[in-house]
Order: sequence, then structure tokens, then C-alpha cells
Amino acid sequence: RARDPQQPEFLQAVQEVMVSLSDFIAAHPKYAESGLLDRLVEPERVIQFRVCWVDDNGDTQTNRAFRIQHNSAIGPFKGGMRFHPSVNLSILKFLAFEQTFKNALTTLPMGGGKGGSDFDPKGKSRGEVMRFCQALMLELYRHLGADTDVPAGDIGVGAREVGYMAGMMKKLTNNAACVFTGKSLSFGGSLIRPEATGYGLVYFVDHMLRSKQMTLEGLRVSVSGSGNVAQYAIEKCLQLGARVVTASDSGGTVIDEEGFTPEKLAMLMHIKNDRYGRVEDYARERGLRYEAGRKPWGVKVDVALPCATQNELDADDARTLVKQGVKCVAEGANMPCTLEAVDVFQHAKALYAPGKASNAGGVATSGLEMTQNAQRLPWTRDEVDARLRSIMADIHTNCVRYGDNGSGGTDYVRGANVAGFVKVADAMLAQGVW
Ligand code: NDP
Repeated sequence: RARDPQQPEFLQAVQEVMVSLSDFIAAHPKYAESGLLDRLVEPERVIQFRVCWVDDNGDTQTNRAFRIQHNSAIGPFKGGMRFHPSVNLSILKFLAFEQTFKNALTTLPMGGGKGGSDFDPKGKSRGEVMRFCQALMLELYRHLGADTDVPAGDIGVGAREVGYMAGMMKKLTNNAACVFTGKSLSFGGSLIRPEATGYGLVYFVDHMLRSKQMTLEGLRVSVSGSGNVAQYAIEKCLQLGARVVTASDSGGTVIDEEGFTPEKLAMLMHIKNDRYGRVEDYARERGLRYEAGRKPWGVKVDVALPCATQNELDADDARTLVKQGVKCVAEGANMPCTLEAVDVFQHAKALYAPGKASNAGGVATSGLEMTQNAQRLPWTRDEVDARLRSIMADIHTNCVRYGDNGSGGTDYVRGANVAGFVKVADAMLAQGVW
């Protein structure tokens, strides 16, 4: 805390992990030796740099960008790039810290990293986005490599932006090795990667519910966000027979008591992905109820899937959901629930899964993209989906193994933290102090 007094999100993430590891470490003192915990919370390297580019009016713009190379104990740094005005060191350090455990949980050899910029892609032309991505790569390229650091997308960074950055990387290095995942299918992307986080989240929820003899069939689900994770979470929920009654963005929430259908979802995706439009446009065009400035958590549901951004669900939201009988909350976004909200869910004995377990399907499939690129062989949709399902099942099993709550249930927070920690910590101990 003394070192990072102005990094609340980073401190929040570290606190959540350390509190839940404390019993385990007390019972296994080797993990407190050789300064392991201090080394684990300190990023191996933090890069901050200036990005200058020229907008459509001919004016020069200056943004700030970062890459946090948090931990490479089990493989090259891996984690997305985020473009959003809120991006700062605290948010990226929290994301890189979380990513380290999440990547370990996938069982694939990937270390943890994260990066991004305070560049706001909203309202920018295609040319401006491309020039910004290229300008950013003029510095970032020297820190990346297939065996060094492999970024991907995140908020504000989809296949288009990844394509511009990967293209510039190749131009600058004269090397076509895989240094980005989430690429378009036309140049090395993996089938199912766009769907993977949302699908993986719902596969995980399915395991959680089945552990309590329930399924998604017929359950009411609220989803927040309407970006990549939200869209495919909705799609998989529909395929498993659930009724999804909300979606949102930073403007507000659409509430649809009848529930999404594949046709309605296709329209939402068209508005968000092709027109770069708003949930409000979708609600208006479909004649649905829209609540400006509101989040989805006031709606009565069985399952809540926060898929937008960090700290979007607080203790009051959690109490409202619990009062209305929520049975399961699983994070599609990274740290969308505040620590206090998580406490409310756990006290109420609602099933609750932290993002590092339930949204790990995206990075897992990025790992599969790296393998396909290294093999120079694309796998079929079914093959990637089968591996994604099996990875999510394994993550669930590991959470159950390490997360026994002493009364026949699973503390998914502890299970995910301990399982991820053991893998990273063993690798760090084996590699000596550096
Ligand atoms: P997108 O940019 O595709 O979508 C983000 C969505 O969240 C948009 O609907 C956006 O609305 C909304 N949003 C952003 N900020 C806020 C806010 N302050 N209040 C309310 N809504 C907000 O991003 P992704 O879907 O890729 O990512 C969503 C979350 O999932 C992030 O936390 C990300 O780190 C996490 N994640 C993503 C993975 C992936 O594979 N994509 C993998 C694992 C985690 P608006 O358009 O108004 O900004």
C-alpha cells in the first residue's frame, strides 16, 4: 500500500487474492519463503510511453500507453490491450495481476500481462484508429515477441485494432511470428476466439449450476454490457435454453421481459459491431424498454452475468439481486463486482464465480490460437470448441478441488486463487530468485 497509494484497483485485486490465500499459505509455509509474495505482486516490467498521431483535421494528438509485463514464470507474458479514456496504471496493473492467475488456471503455458492506452476509439474514423494503432506499435513492437509477450484485444480493441497492430508489427520486424491473438481468420486467427469468453463463461455457469442439480434451461438471466463478451454470453445462454432479459452499455440498460431471440441478438450485434451504435438505438428500433443511466441489477433474475467493466456491481446492487432470489453470479468482465458485493453474494450462499475462473475461456482460446500458429495448422470450429469446453470443465474441477467451503459447497474465489497461485508459485520457486 505504501508503494502504490494511488492505485486503488490494483490494491483491491491484490487484497482479494491475498486474503483468500492466507489460510492456504499458513498451511503450506514454503510459499511464504524467499520473498515469494512480494515478488508475485510486483510486475517484472512496466513500460509507459507516448503515442503521437495526426487526426483527420491535421491536428497532432498525444496519448499515453502502457504495457505491464507482470509475470513470465510459466510462459511468455499474455494479456489484452485496452483502449478507453479510463485507462491508467492502476487499472492495467490490476488486470495484469489477475491475468497471471487466470492464465495459470487455463493450464496452458502463458504468463500474465496487460496493456492499453487512454485513447478513446468512440467517434474516431477508421483512418484515425489505424494511425493511432500504428503509432502505438512504433514503440510497443520492441517489447513483444512470440516467446516474449503476446497481446490480444480487450475493451475498445477488437479484430480490427488487433489487425492494424499485428500488421504494423510485421512491417517493423519483417517477421510473421504470432505476436497477437484475436487476429482475423484471414491471417492466423482461430475459429471460436471471438465467441470464446462469452461461451466459456456460460459453460462455467453450467458446471456451477449442475453442481447444485440445476441447469440453465428456463432460467432468467441478466447480462450487462453489449460488447464482445456480452454478445456471445447471450448467444450461448439462448442455446442452453435460458431467457436473457437485459443488455446494457455505458448509456443505459435495455429490458426485454420476453427475452432475447437469435434474431434480436443479431440485430443488437449489427448495431454495436457494424454501426458502432448504442443499446439505446437497439431499444428504440425494437420498441423495448430502455432505462437511461441505469444498470441491469434491479431486474429479478436467477443468474446475473456482469460482462461490461470493473466495479460495475456494488454492494447495493448485490443486495437487490439477492433479495430478488439470484442463484448464481458469474463474472464475464474482469472484477465487475466490488469486494463488498462479493461478500454479499457469499454470505447469501449464492453461487459466485470470479472472472479469473469464469472468463478464462478467452485467453485459453488465445493460447490455442498460439498453438495453431506455431503448428501452422488451423483447427476446425468443433475442435477448438471441444478444447474450450474441456478447459472450462478443468478450471471448474480445480476450483472445486481447492475451494471446499467446509459445508459441502465451493468457494470459487478461494478455489481459483489457490489453484492459479500454486501453479505460478511452484514455477517461481523452481526458477530461483531474480
Ligand atoms: P467491449 O469493448 O467489446 O465491450 C465492453 C462493453 O462494456 C460495452 O458494452 C461498453 O459500453 C460497456 N462498458 C464499458 N465501460 C463501461 C462503464 N463504465 N459502464 C457501463 N458499461 C461499460 O469489451 P469486451 O466485451 O471485450 O470486454 C468486457 C469485459 O470483459 C472487460 O472487463 C474485459 O477486460 C473482460 N474480458 C474480455 C475478454 C475478451 O476476450 N474480450 C476476455 C476476458 C475478460 P460502451 O460501448 O458504452 O462503452
